[in-house]
Amino acid sequence: MAIPADYHVHTRLCQHAVGDATDYAAHALRAGLPEIGFSDHSPMPRDGFDDWRMRLDQLDEYVEQVRQARRDYPGLAIKLALETDYLPGHEEWIRDLAARHPWDYLIGSVHYVAESWDLDNPKKISEWNRRDRWEVWTAYFERLTAAAASRLFDIIGHADLCKKFCFYPQQDCAPLFRRFLEAARSSAAVIELNTAGLRKDCREIYPSPLFLQLAAQAGVPITFGSDAHAPEEVGANFAEAMRLARRTGYTHYCRFTQRQRAVEAL
Ligand SMILES: [Zn+2]
Ligand SMILES: [Zn+2]
Repeated sequence: MAIPADYHVHTRLCQHAVGDATDYAAHALRAGLPEIGFSDHSPMPRDGFDDWRMRLDQLDEYVEQVRQARRDYPGLAIKLALETDYLPGHEEWIRDLAARHPWDYLIGSVHYVAESWDLDNPKKISEWNRRDRWEVWTAYFERLTAAAASRLFDIIGHADLCKKFCFYPQQDCAPLFRRFLEAARSSAAVIELNTAGLRKDCREIYPSPLFLQLAAQAGVPITFGSDAHAPEEVGANFAEAMRLARRTGYTHYCRFTQRQRAVEAL
């Protein structure tokens, strides 16, 4: 049973991860992974937007780090990608970034539900207590749905990130999931099974089993990602993620090369 590619890996350039690309590649080989993809937090149109991403003048250094890892470990397939924040009004910027380097894929993620609130930021957890949970979840999924419909991204990142700190609403969230999945299906976007949720308060892979079941029924394909912020996190909990994928109805996962999708048996 082959381990799938890990398509969500960061580097120290984002200011809250440790290790260079080559350190992550070394660990991937030790862990028996066939392929990894670097998808570090991309720059914003203005540096200083927040403190958890690379600056624009580091983008070339990032690409060079990934190329160096390819030279250091020719036996490992290494993809070049970005995790890009989707915010309304940033579409032109994302197109600009997309044209700068030969990316294998772009992950589109929603962290910001308002201009200055990244809802997964532990430093801003008190914001949750000031707001209605259902309104936050609804706003989050509205943005996520717009991200999928924008066709700017190949993969939508950690699709139910709003559960990170366990601020679950009382309401039935399935309609939010369904609306997003309809947009993902019709714009050919893929979702990821992101095992970082297991390392957070929610102790659950993103997205939830119910969400994945609906996604499988809707015909939305998957990738796998550890969201590694340290080399030893590469491929973390992938056996569990594979079991979850199979249990919810998936038989295949996707790989990307130069933004072209290929399918692998699971
Ligand atoms: Zn991060
Ligand atoms: Zn993210």
